[in-house]
Amino acid sequence: MSLSRRKFLGWIGAAGMTAAGSKASAATTHHFEGYPDSMAVLHDTTLCIGCRRCEAACNAVNELPAPEVPFTDLTVLTNRRRTTSKAYTVVNQKPGKGGRPIFVKNQCNHCLEPACASVCFVQAFKKTKEGAVVYDASVCVGCRYCMVACPFEIPTYEYDNAFSPKVMKCTMCHPRVLEGKLPGCVESCPTEALVFGRRDDLLKIARQRIVRRPEKYVDHIYGEREMGGTSWLYLSGEPFDAIGMRMDLGVTPAPELTAGALGAVPMVVGLWPVLLTGIYAMSKRKEKIAAEEKAQAVAAALAEAGEQAAARLDATMEKAKQEKTAAVEKAVKEALAADAKARAVAEIQGAAQAPEGAAGDEKDE
Ligand code: SF4
Ligand code: SF4
Repeated sequence: MSLSRRKFLGWIGAAGMTAAGSKASAATTHHFEGYPDSMAVLHDTTLCIGCRRCEAACNAVNELPAPEVPFTDLTVLTNRRRTTSKAYTVVNQKPGKGGRPIFVKNQCNHCLEPACASVCFVQAFKKTKEGAVVYDASVCVGCRYCMVACPFEIPTYEYDNAFSPKVMKCTMCHPRVLEGKLPGCVESCPTEALVFGRRDDLLKIARQRIVRRPEKYVDHIYGEREMGGTSWLYLSGEPFDAIGMRMDLGVTPAPELTAGALGAVPMVVGLWPVLLTGIYAMSKRKEKIAAEEKAQAVAAALAEAGEQAAARLDATMEKAKQEKTAAVEKAVKEALAADAKARAVAEIQGAAQAPEGAAGDEKDE
């Protein structure tokens, strides 16, 4: 079947229209308003003493492997640690005013509109009405887009699990919350540096603390609006970028940043096969036309060369014939001339001999 350019572009248009029609329905739409009564955790870093009990509790409630360094060893606090597939939460120490150590607990921030969910095309991540962003390993294909998308660099991967690696991160102890229990880390914290509750209530509490103790707190609740808001809120006595929190994220939810690109996914997925098939068919068609044109050109060149060769041959033949004719004529002429000359010589000689001959002949008579 020859595919004309017009037919191919017609297909593209048709495919594009259908694909553009279906809006990417990744796990969240970029107009998600959030769950009014969703829960959250307020982490007041001014109250954290870096005891690592939360790490130990998290390890226990999630039945994670025993850590390489025991939770009683506080020397690790000064290393900039990230969450891993075996540690959903880590506490890091930062130098504060006058050298006073500041401890900050890191884990999944359970964004209101999670980037990990918005990029996951199999919807393995879901934002629950309880506030947790939960992961369904049964649909995960292990593409790890979520790890690239997370602005807080949280999701980790079980690289050491050859057969069924999963993406691992804090679950906000969703199963425990559904049972009406506190998240493990919150329950274990001895200084109430972690408080669990309705997000709206925690925002009020945080605001009150700032208003009551302006000398103690930076006038900002981290997570209130970052990336569209998170369910893990932070208070600090130091500027947030000084305690390792990103201040360059802006307030636009990740899905709004990716919705455009994702909206194109069906179109790309729908278009690519058509596009590639079309390009392939067109290049094949071009190749075929080029081959035909080349064959024609070669045939024409051969025919022309043949004609020219024939003409040259004819000319050569003609020339040879003429030369031969000329040569023959020349030879004939020469022969004739020689003959004539010979004849003439003979005649002359005959004439010379005849007085002798005639005398002879007369002798004979
Ligand atoms: S909420 Fe649960 S999973 Fe998340 S850090 Fe705390 S204990 Fe770990
Ligand atoms: S348990 Fe509480 S005080 Fe201890 S490190 Fe964790 S958040 Fe800080």
